Amino acid sequence: MVSLVGAGPGDPELLTVKAMKRLQQAEVVLTDDLVDARVLACLPASARVLRVGKRGGCVSTEQRFIHELMIREARAGARVVRLKGGDPFVFGRGGEEVDALREAGIEVEVINGLSAGLAAPAAVGVPVTDRRCTPGVAFVTGHNGEHGIAPDWAALAKSRLTLVVYMGLARAAVISQALQDGGLSASTPAVIVSAAHTPRQRECFTTLAELPVAIEREGLPSPALLVIGEVVALSPRWREVAGLAALETSGGAEARLAEALQAEAAFRAA
Ligand code: SAH
Repeated sequence: MVSLVGAGPGDPELLTVKAMKRLQQAEVVLTDDLVDARVLACLPASARVLRVGKRGGCVSTEQRFIHELMIREARAGARVVRLKGGDPFVFGRGGEEVDALREAGIEVEVINGLSAGLAAPAAVGVPVTDRRCTPGVAFVTGHNGEHGIAPDWAALAKSRLTLVVYMGLARAAVISQALQDGGLSASTPAVIVSAAHTPRQRECFTTLAELPVAIEREGLPSPALLVIGEVVALSPRWREVAGLAALETSGGAEARLAEALQAEAAFRAA
């Protein structure tokens, strides 16, 4: 049996109890690059840890190699854990790996992890849904579909859904433009969250139009998520930022205060 285990976004306290149990019993572990070192530290010293991560572009032969490795170790009778950042079934090729294992006649279980798309917004005070301003949330890839299906940005722009974009950092300018072309307002609140739930966590509150500029200016590194939608303005942190922006762009103290209050009222209305 192979266990496909979600390692969560970073902090080992966010592992499920079941995931922790599998880690502690593991004999062979195939791990992705994204898995936090503190999670790997939960493995027994006797476990063999194989790093099979691939940064950036995916090469299909490499994925096949991972399948073959898992099958070989499982057939040899080892307790195999396939460890993936976040959740194995959210942009983690978990489905492909389950298929490959089943085809080889190997039993496989999937243990959910906390996906970055849920964990990162919460880490900066953003609820991914809120009935006051959105009917739901869409988790989408920022990739352009070279190895899969690209999101329909125009449809998403009209959906009013909160958009959580994985792997979108490098293509933020294209995504921002496509959403604006689709009719989403340039001033839609947005936040970039980098390395959520790790000691390197950083975030930047901004707007849809300013997303690419903010990423460039702040030098936010990968892995990072883009969160776009009115829910972003529900974060107490957004209010601080909006207050600051109002101070920077206006002249007199009166005007500054009025703008800050106006911004506050607009967020409340939203
Ligand atoms: N299976 C993972 C996603 C893998 S795709 C999950 O469920 O979270 C890799 C993308 O996930 C990254 O490009 C980034 O967009 C996002 N990501 C993963 N970990 C992250 C973290 N700690 N902080 C912010 N984004 C993260």
